[in-house]
Amino acid sequence: MAALEKEITLDDRTRGVALAHHLLWSENRCHRSAIYVQVGTGIGAGIFVDGRMLRGASLSSGEIGHMVIDRAGPVCACGKRGCVEAFASLGATLAYVTGELERGAKSSLRKVAAEGGQITAEMIVAAARQSDALAIAALRRAAEALGTAIANAVHLLNPSLVVLVGKFANVARDLLLDIVAAVIERECFDTMSRCLEIRIAPHRKDAAAVGCALLAALDVAEQRVQETLFRAADKLAH
Ligand SMILES: [Zn+2]
Repeated sequence: MAALEKEITLDDRTRGVALAHHLLWSENRCHRSAIYVQVGTGIGAGIFVDGRMLRGASLSSGEIGHMVIDRAGPVCACGKRGCVEAFASLGATLAYVTGELERGAKSSLRKVAAEGGQITAEMIVAAARQSDALAIAALRRAAEALGTAIANAVHLLNPSLVVLVGKFANVARDLLLDIVAAVIERECFDTMSRCLEIRIAPHRKDAAAVGCALLAALDVAEQRVQETLFRAADKLAH
């Protein structure tokens, strides 16, 4: 952009968060193929295959939240039906709990709704830890959908690491992770699930900002590699 007299990098925030988590922790950096799944108000992923981050032809790779897992499922924010995000995002989980309460489900969360309060992820997780059946069902529904989407991605990409990041993942922790891991083990080929580590990322507030700076640095580095390769190819061509 001439007015800025600087090169700029345009990319997706989820990929920035993934890059930060991939590079800032040595236990992640050693994995050449990894998927970082953001689980919050939306669901997306940053993907690394054989040491390189996937961006895609229109910078749109990693839209794991819009994989359709049930064509008769609920309508997603994107307008399609049955996307993973329509089952497993924080918004979808809150909507499920509210809907079930309206249909008369018994739950300790009914008191909050009856008093006009806003049910939160923390409340659902706390209720699930107290064996509340509706809260457990809501988290299971989200985790099963997420697990199926990740299992599909694992079949396609064969990573050795899957990391759940984002607010909902950090609040629910083992209540999501254990089911996601069980679904992946159930649905993936042994050859893939055997060499796969699955964990929750430690929360880091500045992950998006750090990741965006790293994305710009990665752009510059990749441009240099490409220029060097093109120069070598031109020499060999003549
Ligand atoms: Zn969708």
